[in-house]
Amino acid sequence: MAYEAVPGSEAGVLVIGAGPAGCTAAISLARLGHDVSMIAYPRGFEAYEGLAPRVASWLRAAGFAAALRVIPQPVKRRVEWDGSSVDRNAESIVRRSDFDRALLEDAEAAGVRILHDQVRRLPRAGLDDSGVVLASGRRLVARFFVDARGRAAHRAGDSRDGPVTVSIAQLWQGPARDPGTAVTACADGWVWLAREENGICFSQLNCAADVPGRPGVRGLAAWLRNRLESVPLACEWLDGCAPAAEPVARASTARLNLPLAPHGRVLRIGDCAMAVDPLSGSGLFQALSSAALAPAVINTLLRMPDSAALALNFYEDRLRHLFERFARTGRDFYRAETRWPAAPFWRERAAWPDEEIAHGMRRARAPEVALRAVVDDGLIRQARVVVTDDQPLGTWRVAGIEVAPLLDGLQATRETERAGALDRLLGQAGCNAQNASAVRRWFAGLQPF
Ligand SMILES: Cc1cc2nc3c(=O)[nH]c(=O)nc-3n(C[C@H](O)[C@H](O)[C@H](O)COP(=O)(O)OP(=O)(O)OC[C@H]3O[C@@H](n4cnc5c(N)ncnc54)[C@H](O)[C@@H]3O)c2cc1C
Repeated sequence: MAYEAVPGSEAGVLVIGAGPAGCTAAISLARLGHDVSMIAYPRGFEAYEGLAPRVASWLRAAGFAAALRVIPQPVKRRVEWDGSSVDRNAESIVRRSDFDRALLEDAEAAGVRILHDQVRRLPRAGLDDSGVVLASGRRLVARFFVDARGRAAHRAGDSRDGPVTVSIAQLWQGPARDPGTAVTACADGWVWLAREENGICFSQLNCAADVPGRPGVRGLAAWLRNRLESVPLACEWLDGCAPAAEPVARASTARLNLPLAPHGRVLRIGDCAMAVDPLSGSGLFQALSSAALAPAVINTLLRMPDSAALALNFYEDRLRHLFERFARTGRDFYRAETRWPAAPFWRERAAWPDEEIAHGMRRARAPEVALRAVVDDGLIRQARVVVTDDQPLGTWRVAGIEVAPLLDGLQATRETERAGALDRLLGQAGCNAQNASAVRRWFAGLQPF
């Protein structure tokens, strides 16, 4: 059977999967002037997730009006770790089906064409005229495809995986109580708990996929209940609650799904490209921000094919860097829980990915200027950036001001005269007071040079 083009989209982009990453990329690509269609197929399970306040700020800045409306006020997040308990920051409890529907509304409002269907087969490598095959039987072609299927996407050939983890979620209904969320450690994993004002509770046990005795679907509810009964904080939170749905087990292994561009016409984004351990509490934010890089990469591939290698290397470098940073920060958090050093769950996670120091802890190298890829006006190009231990991929601009020429100027000045020199350079660059103070703060945080 022949492939068809979505009417008007032969030269357009087809996004596969309408989660946070797919919607982010689709909206940005439409804003860059591309004709964008997106295949939307709802997730087969309900989940509640805790969104860090920066998700709402990010969505506000990116113009997601409908998605913002379904994010409630943040509630307190309690963390019980290594025998102590602290109220650490806050998060909003979001029902994913509501959130995903709202994202779709935002995408449609931005001019993205939505096709309600499911992709059964992706375009094939080496066959330039092949496209996607849908459950409805349609076969669609496009100029470029974005794989945003989240964790439903297959593990790719060179993928880098963390310890194999499963998360078993259960929805509960109980009496009305104060809303909040909590994280607590136990001998063979950790539990996330969330409670809405209306008494809806959500528990999520995260454990090794091969934890002894875990049954399949049959018997999972009883097994889970039994596990949660051995976790004091879960007993306290779920007191008086009854299950409101069958439990759901989902894979939650950290994964960098290399290669990110399996061939010239497909790019993986969001969790499909890089999924972090849910312990980070900011998986969704990472999916949004990594997906936000993709439109400039795709725009470059389509409009400046001579810069394809630069754009793809930029994308892979960024995602590798983010993945390693999350993996090492997560490792240190697992290490901070010292009560079960011999338990396989804790031992394995305290050793992955390596012994390298976590991001932001090194302070040895003086800043230097280097040529690196940056996002400029929706395209990837090379620019002079400042490379530091904290930002090894380089910082191009702070508050819109290029920092490499400022560093050049400062390095040519005696150390004792640098504060005055920075003010003079900022004045010459025509920088207003607010931006100048952001740049001064940024330089003040650098290793002395
Ligand atoms: C157990 C667990 C708990 C988590 N908890 C949190 C949390 O509390 N806070 C947080 O910030 N993050 C959390 N995350 C991370 C967060 O869920 C993800 O980072 C985020 O959803 C990724 O967005 P995405 O768009 O890449 O993928 P997804 O949200 O998975 O979206 C992918 C979309 O593609 C669709 N799709 C899949 N296959 C096809 C197909 N063949 N055809 C068409 N469509 C398809 C799916 O139905 C879905 O709509 C958690 C993750 C897990 C695994």
